[in-house]
Amino acid sequence: MSFLSVLSGSFSTPADGNPTVAMMEAAYAAAGLDARYLNVDVSSANLADAIIGARAMGWVGFNCSMPHKVAVIDHLDGLGESAELIGAVNCVVARDGDLIGENTDGKGFVEAMRELRHPGGTHVVVLGAGGAGRAIAVEVALAGAARVTVVNRNVARGEGLARLVVERTEADADFQPWTSAYAVPTSADVVVNATSVGLGDPEELVNIDVDSLRPELLVADVIPNPPHTAYLRAAAQRGAQTLDGLGMLVAQGAVAIELWHGISPDRDVMRARLSQVLGPESPN
Ligand code: NDP
Repeated sequence: MSFLSVLSGSFSTPADGNPTVAMMEAAYAAAGLDARYLNVDVSSANLADAIIGARAMGWVGFNCSMPHKVAVIDHLDGLGESAELIGAVNCVVARDGDLIGENTDGKGFVEAMRELRHPGGTHVVVLGAGGAGRAIAVEVALAGAARVTVVNRNVARGEGLARLVVERTEADADFQPWTSAYAVPTSADVVVNATSVGLGDPEELVNIDVDSLRPELLVADVIPNPPHTAYLRAAAQRGAQTLDGLGMLVAQGAVAIELWHGISPDRDVMRARLSQVLGPESPN
């Protein structure tokens, strides 16, 4: 009998609205793991000390969320391949005394996407080129997408991401400046909203020509809260298949548990717990 739990958690600020702890602790309980996931509010000024504390206490790892995903890199001993490509870390893993930065956001998206459509050979349109957009564009390209179209208001950020995909993966990529309601091209198989539009507001609609959301498309959103976004509702009304942000959130957390504990957690338990704390299921 041991009274010493394995420790993991999340460093972000503000942290009180982050639901990840609920699904991670549900996964640990379902797997019978004597592990804890602590949601910790850490300011930028305290990030270095928090990481020293995690090392000292023997944490198996921790998630980093806003605003630490880039700043954390200076405090780590190395980076995994996609974290290095993406230039951001959302998951730190303790390995043989070293802290290694990984990025599970895009991996989570690809895992959730695979349940509905295989990424191989697809044309994926990514709306947004921030942290989530970079992670998704890079991982769908690494997973075999043939083409990635990046759509973004900020030209330098969008062009930079398209160039990164072309230079560092096998996929083709192009950039489209986002100046008016975006019409999804007929060549596209998947369109994903990777902007923050819709977060916390079920009526806020991303600037898109909703009539271009054809029934053949997989229409995905990164927004986990509320999961039933105006964009996904518009897509479902037009007969398109939808993938909500809970799928990505669950999958990126499940990948983190695999990295920290070497077990594959029960995704259904994690999703059910998230739905319980956040609200109803997506439209289809
Ligand atoms: P960033 O701040 O890094 O990037 C935000 C992106 O959204 C930028 O491309 C920005 O464009 C774009 N954007 C913001 N407002 C608008 C607007 N009104 N119209 C068009 N584009 C807009 O944020 P992140 O990428 O880190 O996060 C984005 C969202 O992804 C958040 O809501 C977050 O909750 C969600 N997320 C979900 C995850 C999940 O597991 N489900 C995981 C990670 C993130 P520009 O460059 O032109 O300013």
